[in-house]
Amino acid sequence: MTTKNYVIGLDIGTTSAKAVLFERNGLVVAENENAYPVYHPNPSWVEQDPYEIEQAAIAAISGTIEKSGINKNEIICVGISSAMHSLICMNNQHEPISPSITWADGRSATQANHIKETVGERIYLKTGTPIHPMSPLSKLMWMKETNYQPYLKAAKFISIKEFLIYRWFDQYIVDYAIASASGFFNIHTFEWEEEALALVGITKEQLSEPVPPTTICQGLTSTLAEKFQLPDDLPFVIGSSDGPLANMGIGAIEPGDVAITIGTSGAIRQMTSKPQTDSLQEVFCYGVTKELWIMGGPTNNGGIVFQWLKNVLGEVEIQQAFDSGGNAYDLLTTLAQNVNPGSEGLLFLPFLNGERAPYWDADARGSYIGLTLTHQKPHMIRAGLEGVIYSLFSIGETLERLAGKPVNLFASGGFARSSLWLQILSDIFGQEIQVPVSHQSSAWGAAWFGLYALNEVPSLAAIKDSIPMNQTYKPNSVNHNTYSELYKVYRELYSSLKPHFSTLASIQRNV
Ligand code: ADP
Repeated sequence: MTTKNYVIGLDIGTTSAKAVLFERNGLVVAENENAYPVYHPNPSWVEQDPYEIEQAAIAAISGTIEKSGINKNEIICVGISSAMHSLICMNNQHEPISPSITWADGRSATQANHIKETVGERIYLKTGTPIHPMSPLSKLMWMKETNYQPYLKAAKFISIKEFLIYRWFDQYIVDYAIASASGFFNIHTFEWEEEALALVGITKEQLSEPVPPTTICQGLTSTLAEKFQLPDDLPFVIGSSDGPLANMGIGAIEPGDVAITIGTSGAIRQMTSKPQTDSLQEVFCYGVTKELWIMGGPTNNGGIVFQWLKNVLGEVEIQQAFDSGGNAYDLLTTLAQNVNPGSEGLLFLPFLNGERAPYWDADARGSYIGLTLTHQKPHMIRAGLEGVIYSLFSIGETLERLAGKPVNLFASGGFARSSLWLQILSDIFGQEIQVPVSHQSSAWGAAWFGLYALNEVPSLAAIKDSIPMNQTYKPNSVNHNTYSELYKVYRELYSSLKPHFSTLASIQRNV
């Protein structure tokens, strides 16, 4: 074991790269975040520039080191986390010839529906990835059917994390969890799934080599090391995807431990010691190590809902925050705090971005239900925050069917900056919620994988003793009863409105 004291978790998120410098015990020394743009060349397309992400990732690390003022030789390693489901076409000169198409991209909705209606169930049972436009499988099907030029010319198909590893270490490798999220990786054999590859017309030579999350990459060029402000022999550990790493970083590892993450999107997840899928295709199951899988359900509508509310209803608060150096989210949260739990009977279906679990319906749409003349802006904000949590609760019910009742609930992600939102979570679930001090759980999970890979810690599970925890949120039984009554209505609304959602979605597509 070295005498060095620090470890970095690098988290390539949906909208920004975050680098967090931790002490060995999980205390945050410094963190730095660099945002990157998201492009929408067509309404349902969601793309990013791989080079912009690379620059942001490098700047996130160098900025963190600068902020911390520590000696770079005191750093043990960098562990990497990244968002799932991105897809980049690379030519044989190892240059990207397509943008990075993100999980949120909806261009392959028709192809996903077609796969679902034909071979979808068989492929899902092998790969654990629900058939949906989020997955590279559906994206490749779209590329194949539309003769997308980069697809026709591609030597490799990779994710954003593979792109970074290639740029920094000159090798095409992919950790099991990122591979799992492609939709063409077999979670039982840990090999690329031939049937799925044949379906989308690619070969395994066009993919990276799947490797365990403890795989070490070393040998930054001196130019690159200088940009990072890191020693050039510093080990980078490939790590995993942001979901399992958030579970790790929050301590949700044992059966019954459930992690709820709400960043831009959101998810509810449990680790499991065997691959579990079911024919209803409501939950995902991804391989993490050959002994550990992660199952759960993602929502498209996490923090992005609050972001939307802020942009649409928060003009005054944005200005106020700008003038006073405050935060518009905090000002809007204060407004919502003055409304009673349940928003006086106002419900909000948060499906602004279509929805993944539990409905897997890209045509689902958002709606306020129950508006009266007494409802004002604060009610709309509060109902929005509550709607996101009802939606996670409904995904939790689905997960419970396969994984059993949650015993311990942990929460992290950008939403955990709001104690009101955390209390709503505790009240709707009717359970205690444990919250770590740092909401950058994926970064700590990635850093811990790094320490584990370098034999600096005894086991993955030992992280439980090194997670500085914040306050625990306890449910208020009166509020829980109010929410339970409202949830009964919420649960019925999606199925009642489904036919209207698809009609509206098709009208919207033709606008
Ligand atoms: P990402 O998923 O891109 O990594 P984060 O985990 O940083 O994102 O979460 C971003 C979300 O966190 C925002 O969309 C917003 O809804 C929420 N958020 C950010 N600041 C606050 C705040 N002060 N109070 C409540 N929610 C917040």
